[in-house]
Amino acid sequence: MKCTRCKAKAEVHLRAHNAGFCRPCYLGYFQRHVERAVDREKMFSKDDHILVAVSGGKDSLALWDVLVGLGYRTTGLYLGLGIGGYSDRSRETVEAFARNRELPLVVRTLADEGPGLAVPDVAASTRRVPCAACGAMKRHFFDAAAHEGSFDVLATGHNLDDEAARLLGNVLRWQRDHLARQRPVLQPSHPKFVRKVKPLYLLSEYETAVYAFMRGIEYVVEECPNAEGATQLVYKDALNRLEAASPGTKQAFVKEFLRNAQSLFADDAARGVPGECQQCGMPAYGAICSFCALVREVETKRARRAAAAAEHAGA
Ligand code: SF4
Ligand SMILES: [Zn+2]
Ligand SMILES: [Zn+2]
Repeated sequence: MKCTRCKAKAEVHLRAHNAGFCRPCYLGYFQRHVERAVDREKMFSKDDHILVAVSGGKDSLALWDVLVGLGYRTTGLYLGLGIGGYSDRSRETVEAFARNRELPLVVRTLADEGPGLAVPDVAASTRRVPCAACGAMKRHFFDAAAHEGSFDVLATGHNLDDEAARLLGNVLRWQRDHLARQRPVLQPSHPKFVRKVKPLYLLSEYETAVYAFMRGIEYVVEECPNAEGATQLVYKDALNRLEAASPGTKQAFVKEFLRNAQSLFADDAARGVPGECQQCGMPAYGAICSFCALVREVETKRARRAAAAAEHAGA
C-alpha cells in the first residue's frame, strides 16, 4: 500500500479511515488530528498551563509527547497507586520520559498520603473492587494537584477505545448521569476544579500505539494487574469484533453519540454547584467529599482491626 499523502511506501494502514501513511506523514496526521480536536472542542490555548496525567502507558505518554511537540505549556502528573511491581515500573518509565526530555513532572504517591491508602490496601480494608477505590482516589488527587498547582486544564490520555467502551457500558445500563458527563471537555462546576479534557478521544488505541512506536517512546506495555477482570475489557473486546467486521464502527459510535444524543442527557448533569468538603476543602456535594469519606472508612476499619489484634494478643 502507498502513503495516501505522498505516495511513498506506507508503513501503517488505517482501515477505519481507508488510508495508509509513511512514517513522516503518519506523525503529521496524528499531530494534526490532536491539534484539530483541541481547537474544535476549545480544550485549551497556548496561554494555558496544562497538567497531563501520565500513567506510564502509551496513551498518556503519547499525549504528553504530542502536546509538547505542538508547543503547549505542560507539566506531567504521576500518581503512584502502590500496585506492586506494576506501579514501580510505571513510575520509573514516567520519570525517565520526563528526564530525557527535560519536562516538569509532579509525582505523588498514595502510600505517602496516609497509612493504608495504596489501592490494594484501600480495596482490602473497604471491600471495594480495586478499580472503584482507584477511580475515587485518582479523581481526588488529580483535582487537588491541578488546583494546588494553579493549572488551567487537566488532560488525560483516554483514547477512542476507552471512550467507546465507556459509552457501551453506559448505554447498556442507560446510566443517564454518566452519559451526561461523557464528553471530551468537562467544564469546572466549582472554582477549585479545572477544565478536564481528552485530546485523544477520537484516536484509537492502535493509532496511539503506532505513534508511540514511531516516536520511540518507551512505555509500560504490561496492563495493571487489576485490569484483567475489568468489565471495560469485555466491552473493548466486543467493540473490536464489531470494528473488525465493520471498520469505523467505534469512531461512528462515539462521534454520533456526541453529535446526536449527548445533549439529550445534559440536564442529568445539573447537580447544582458543589459546596466544600469540611475535611480537605475540595468541592463536595455533602459535608465531606467522597475521597475523605473513603479515607475515614479506611481509618475506622484499620483502627477496628488493630483493636481486635491487640485484644487477641492480650487474651
Ligand atoms: S485497572 Fe483499575 S486499579 Fe488498575 S489503574 Fe486502572 S482503575 Fe486503577
Ligand atoms: Zn507519506
Ligand atoms: Zn475531602
